[in-house]
Amino acid sequence: MNIHEYQAKEVLKSFGVTIQEGIVADTPEKAKEAAKELNATTGTEWYVVKAQIHAGGRGKGKVKETGSNGVVLAKSLDEVAPKAKDILGGTLVTHQTGPDGKKVNKVLIAQDVYYPGESEPKEYYLSILLDRAMGCNVIMASTEGGMDIETVAEETPEKIVKEWIDPAVGLQGFQARKVAFALGLEGQAFKEMVKFIFSLYKAYEATDSSQFEINPVLKTSDNKILAVDAKVNLDDNALYRHKDIAEMRDLTEEDPLEVEAGQSGLNYVKLDGNVGCMVNGAGLAMATMDIIKLSGGEPANFLDVGGGANAQTVEAGFRIILKDPNVKAILINIFGGIVRCDRVANGVVEAYKNIGEIKVPIIVRLQGTNAEEGAKIIDESGLKVVSAVVLKDAADKVKEVLA
Ligand code: GDP
Ligand code: MN
Repeated sequence: MNIHEYQAKEVLKSFGVTIQEGIVADTPEKAKEAAKELNATTGTEWYVVKAQIHAGGRGKGKVKETGSNGVVLAKSLDEVAPKAKDILGGTLVTHQTGPDGKKVNKVLIAQDVYYPGESEPKEYYLSILLDRAMGCNVIMASTEGGMDIETVAEETPEKIVKEWIDPAVGLQGFQARKVAFALGLEGQAFKEMVKFIFSLYKAYEATDSSQFEINPVLKTSDNKILAVDAKVNLDDNALYRHKDIAEMRDLTEEDPLEVEAGQSGLNYVKLDGNVGCMVNGAGLAMATMDIIKLSGGEPANFLDVGGGANAQTVEAGFRIILKDPNVKAILINIFGGIVRCDRVANGVVEAYKNIGEIKVPIIVRLQGTNAEEGAKIIDESGLKVVSAVVLKDAADKVKEVLA
């Protein structure tokens, strides 16, 4: 699960991570009130207005309706409300949102932390994530803060330092110091960075996160270390242990079909193609998508109906796939292991009847326990369902009906 920057900063702060302070607002008036309060608590006279969407690249991104960037500086209290107005309710397009962009419902009003002083403010990159190949967490850091880490990895990989954390002993002092040293820090800023890394790691472990990305981490002109941005990705399977964070979920940021599928216990991911897929098991679903592509089609979704597919789950799956207007054919690919194929076939027929007329062609491939009985039920149902035996055959039939 993803959360917004303002929520991520709240979580980080509760673990002692130092952050750029801010207050969230959903109207220009409230944005101004937020700025006043920040002025009272932090003394700041400049403010940053930051669009809250589940995507990065906001600073360079543009609001379609007004042309405003997604992160803008307000150099007085009076500038805050009009600048917030140019962002709120607009559609922000960044390189991560795709061309449709995302609607902005909230802005974070933050203190300006790039104020001048004895040294220049400097941006760094810091992230913690799970390195699956190494079987442990890794801290990644770079002096190239503010840039996309993918670009840094491609063009100047030597500027990324990695520190792997042994899960049995946890983050060690020398490791945090090594990272801070690699970033070229010294004196007070070095000490602050070491503390920052420790608090961040503690927050990462305690929240069962799978990724933290702080880009940028800022060294202020007076040598403070602050999280200016925060991307936090939590492990869905551990959310039950974090009710307070689970409540931060913002359904407006998620695909409505994916939300609906989740409520029916289905694992659905919307894609851009035209062949709807209904499959049991994630591995088979991936293989099905591959074979669709191989025969020239494009999958419209990933849908895993799970091990216990029955008439209800098949019907729920059908309804969700059919709500996607791009879908021109549906491929059902079920391996009867735990579930019997005849049961699934009955489910398909029943769902077909319950939903009423389904205009797109359906290709069904049933394999495994009672596959023959299943195919018979499909063939004798009198419905416009094409039955296929081999996976490649199924994909070719999809191609035929699309042609
Ligand atoms: P992103 O573009 O979605 O990654 O959003 P960030 O939170 O990383 O902000 C984008 C950029 O806005 C940062 O890299 C900074 O250059 C700038 N920015 C953020 N906070 C401040 C601030 O307090 N003062 C100034 N002057 N710029 C800021
Ligand atoms: Mn950022």
